[in-house]
Amino acid sequence: MNEIIKGIPASSGIVIGPVYLLGKEDYDVSKRKISDSDIALEIVRFEEALIQTHKDLIALQKKVSQELDQEQAQIFDAHLLVLEDRMLIEEVISRIKKEKVNVEYIFQGMLNKYINVFSRMEDEYLRERVADINDVGKRVLRALSGKKKKSLSEFEEKVIVVAHDLSPSDTAAMHRKNVIGFITDIGGKTSHTAIMAKSFEIPAVVGVEIATSRINEGDTIIIDGTAGVIVINPDKKTITQYNKAKDKILAQDESFLSLKALPAQTKDKRRVELAANIELPEEIPFVIDHGAEGIGLYRTEYFYMNRRGLPTEEEHYEAYKLVAQKMSPHSVVIRTLDLGGDKFISQLQIPHDMLPFLGWRAIRFCLARPDIFKVQLRALLRASVHGNIKIMYPMISGIEEMRQANQMMDDVKVELRSKKIPFNEDVEIGAMIEVPSAAMTADLVGQEADFFSIGTNDLIQYALAVDRTNEKVAYLYEPAHPAVLRLIKRIIEDGHKNNIWVGMCGEMSGDPIFVLILLGMGLDKFSMPSKMIPQIKQLVRAVTMDQAKKIAEEVLTLSTGKEVEKFSKKKLREIIPEIYK
Ligand code: PEP
Ligand code: MG
Repeated sequence: MNEIIKGIPASSGIVIGPVYLLGKEDYDVSKRKISDSDIALEIVRFEEALIQTHKDLIALQKKVSQELDQEQAQIFDAHLLVLEDRMLIEEVISRIKKEKVNVEYIFQGMLNKYINVFSRMEDEYLRERVADINDVGKRVLRALSGKKKKSLSEFEEKVIVVAHDLSPSDTAAMHRKNVIGFITDIGGKTSHTAIMAKSFEIPAVVGVEIATSRINEGDTIIIDGTAGVIVINPDKKTITQYNKAKDKILAQDESFLSLKALPAQTKDKRRVELAANIELPEEIPFVIDHGAEGIGLYRTEYFYMNRRGLPTEEEHYEAYKLVAQKMSPHSVVIRTLDLGGDKFISQLQIPHDMLPFLGWRAIRFCLARPDIFKVQLRALLRASVHGNIKIMYPMISGIEEMRQANQMMDDVKVELRSKKIPFNEDVEIGAMIEVPSAAMTADLVGQEADFFSIGTNDLIQYALAVDRTNEKVAYLYEPAHPAVLRLIKRIIEDGHKNNIWVGMCGEMSGDPIFVLILLGMGLDKFSMPSKMIPQIKQLVRAVTMDQAKKIAEEVLTLSTGKEVEKFSKKKLREIIPEIYK
């Protein structure tokens, strides 16, 4: 009772519920010799597993076509085809007879062979079948084991998902599907899985390392996402304590919300913009509920995930139009495709880089693939007449990349003009500043941009050489590091020298510890998970610009991140003692 384990706090809030342990495959594919008399039985087992999987797939297809749409349901047609592949089936049966080993072992080996062959195919369509083969293969192996594994979007009751790892696309799939919290063995505070949890307001702890080995399916657990604490099988007294703490948090959130309609301005009336970060358009009601003045970062790569094929120009256009209209008259900053790092898009079949965060990704990928990039640019420009859309490019490393991207944008504009398709000629185009080389040359990049948005999640990892998703080096991932603060100051100053506004959409801008420092440095716009907006507004409204500038000046004289945090916490306590104890 009451075993406590700790990890990295990823998304605040307290939740209590039953565990669903995910990801550990519960079938055994190891090699087992079988006797002659068991051969027939083994073949029957295989055939029954195929029939069972077929039934499951048909049922799933029916459910999906009722609840989602026909196109999503068609995914299962390809799965069914794999299942009916005579060559595969006959080879498995003949090998069982010849080699006299268990079907799981042979079937897994055959799957690997197929996957190898298909993933090397020239033809893109055939290469895309790898995911189908993999998926169906796992279903058959599960059927052979007699166990059923749920998919992330199928929970019928509220559960806390515990997994070794969850990809951002897994997290998107379980969005609002009875998942009330999650825990992962790996990951850091700014891995995209953690960011999604914040957006969806699901308490989460990541980088726990031992979660999947200590927690069992069916356990009841408490997640305290603020402290990064997990209590396994809590006793009644502990549950009561946490329920009380939960009520207190809810009451505090309510009191922050009372500021919703007030402007985000300092006591001496310096106004800043507090905007929201989103991954999916479904988040907009939350964004509006929290009083956001627009969207400062719409991460469009999620639009490419959990689907078959790439989104069409029309699909892009409809999504951007919807977001722009719903947020109007506020602005919506839409970021072009930022794939790579910890965000994979299976249908693009991009080879894995040795160092994915430094590899062929984001704007580098888009510049090399105008066929994909221009589809998005066209849709963005077309949608720009429906609201206040601004566009920004991720991972810009210097002025050259900015020029190349703008050139593609200009090409698309020329094409639209020639076809008399309307778009906003004055649409603002900005650069995310998240690569140190862009930060150090922000004076130059600013000549080609209408605004900057500082992406501290990446800027910190690149400046400090710390993988943002690796729990083992999480202690080195320090937003308060003097190197990071100096870079930020420089970017803001160079932006202003170029007469452009400077925002920040990394997690740092929604962290109370840094808000007054950033305000004092002159940041114009803060974009964050919408839940944080009311609390950050309270802070902005509690100080004068003079106070904030002094705090910024003082922290820039300090030598370590720890000193910066200590100083900043002291200031918070002085300014709003009832919240920052
Ligand atoms: C960032 O890097 O700070 C950012 C906002 O983008 P992402 O977290 O999607 O990399
Ligand atoms: Mg980034």
